[in-house]
Amino acid sequence: MKLVLATHNQGKVAELRAILAPVGLDLIGYDGPEPVEDGTTFLENAMIKARAAHQHTGLPALADDSGLQVEILGGSPGIFTAVWSGTKDNVANRRLLLAQLQHVPETHRQASFVCTIALVSDDTELSFTGIWPGSIAFEERGSNGHGYDPVFIPEGFEQTAAELDPEIKNALSHRSIALSSLIDYLKANVV
Ligand code: IMP
Repeated sequence: MKLVLATHNQGKVAELRAILAPVGLDLIGYDGPEPVEDGTTFLENAMIKARAAHQHTGLPALADDSGLQVEILGGSPGIFTAVWSGTKDNVANRRLLLAQLQHVPETHRQASFVCTIALVSDDTELSFTGIWPGSIAFEERGSNGHGYDPVFIPEGFEQTAAELDPEIKNALSHRSIALSSLIDYLKANVV
């Protein structure tokens, strides 16, 4: 069965395509218009993207939205994770977050990465969410991964996500949790 992934990021398509191929799913990229992501939650934004790709292609469509929620910031940066400093610069984004938390003690630095994947077809609108709990470090550590990995310490670890072996991160992350639920659903209902 053919599915479309609502992203123009070919790296994301290739990664997910390789994961879904063994399940009998043929994932392709989406080159149609990108909708305005004006939702107020990860779920709303993932749905907006998946609905647009479904409408444009007529195929069942997947879209994901993810980010970081910091408890003492009331769940921010949330949907603004990618542009927290006003730019898409990851270094500036991490620096701002560390500055905002510089006087916050270790006991109050809880945070989670969240990933929501939406699936939209003619007769279905579903979502799958993964949450990876942890806390925010006092300084950047590590060079693996991307985005906020150098400042995120997953629960049960002392290292940041950027210091972890990428295989360990991939097995535990918010994205892998959401993806496992999606794959379980597709195996049981579609393939
Ligand atoms: P996107 O939804 O994949 O575009 O991610 C939104 C924002 O969350 C970007 O700033 C990413 O860097 C950040 N983010 C999402 N997942 C991760 C992760 O696994 N590690 C680090 N940053 C992440």
